[in-house]
Amino acid sequence: MIAETIKNSARILSGASIAEAIKREVAGEIKTLSYRPGLTVVRVGEDEASAVYVGSKIKTSAELGIRSEHRHLPADTSQKELLRIVDELNERDDFDGILVQLPLPKQIDESRILERINPEKDVDGFHPANVGRLSQGAAALAPCTPAGVIEILKRSDIEIAGAHAVIVGRSNIVGKPMAMLLLRENATVTICHSRTVNLARITSQADILVAAIGRAGFVRGEHIKAGATVVDVGINNVSDADYVRELFDETELEKRLTTIEKRGFTLVGDVNPKEAKAKAANFTPVPGGVGLLTVAMLMKNTVDAAKLRRQK
Ligand code: NDP
Repeated sequence: MIAETIKNSARILSGASIAEAIKREVAGEIKTLSYRPGLTVVRVGEDEASAVYVGSKIKTSAELGIRSEHRHLPADTSQKELLRIVDELNERDDFDGILVQLPLPKQIDESRILERINPEKDVDGFHPANVGRLSQGAAALAPCTPAGVIEILKRSDIEIAGAHAVIVGRSNIVGKPMAMLLLRENATVTICHSRTVNLARITSQADILVAAIGRAGFVRGEHIKAGATVVDVGINNVSDADYVRELFDETELEKRLTTIEKRGFTLVGDVNPKEAKAKAANFTPVPGGVGLLTVAMLMKNTVDAAKLRRQK
């Protein structure tokens, strides 16, 4: 009976209105400042997805009143040259945020570059100083995607304090900072990964389940506790129409198949949406969920970085 009531009842937590609200707040805050915050985005090489992400960051900066600069460097840029550019940007007083778009070409050691960015300008929140501060529960520039997840949860009135939050994935970009942010909000946190034994036994205890794995539709109904909040961070290109038929119900399937015909693929998260909708109370869609928050949080981090540095 209870299962019947829950069936197909998941509330869809759309990222669009939350991202718009954050952007409006950031734009409003910028208007109160006596300067325009500045953001430089450095892109190396011709990665197609990176070009799209950087384009969206630059466009949103302009809309909100952030002065932005896009430095596009050739694919054969040396590590030494990139370090020199980071040094130059660290010195520039008119730029508050530096973002080096990942992935970088093979000849460049990503961690050396990220560690060279002045932590005060580290709007991606990847510098070890910011990672350390976050794990101490201190004020820090936090990575944009997990910070966006916290905003979705809070602004959707989902209780974090006291909840059992289970994160699948332990990357430095999503899983680990997600754990630190949920801990800061007083959740009881469990992190799972590829070596976790009996994953479903653990994830099915989660009040809040965050999937950041990189495998389309991996999280199934058996992984989800009835009535849980399921946050899908994953972004995967799926071109297999048969697999898409397994993932989507009739409300979405036709659109998805048309997208595959037109673009060759459709975007799918790490969670099986049909099964999540049937079992969870709240579910973030892909696309249209967490992904939309990432750029909004970058804008917020840029303004926060500007205020902190310039008030010193
Ligand atoms: P990574 O590949 O860096 O990490 C994936 C994690 O998933 C690893 O910790 C890995 O475990 C774990 N994992 C892999 N297979 C399994 C399994 N079978 N069972 C349990 N755990 C498993 O990915 P990212 O963290 O960078 O990204 C995760 C997803 O989020 C991707 O789909 C990515 O596209 C998306 N993403 C979305 C963003 C957005 O803006 N919405 C931003 C960033 C990422 P182990 O450590 O043991 O290998």
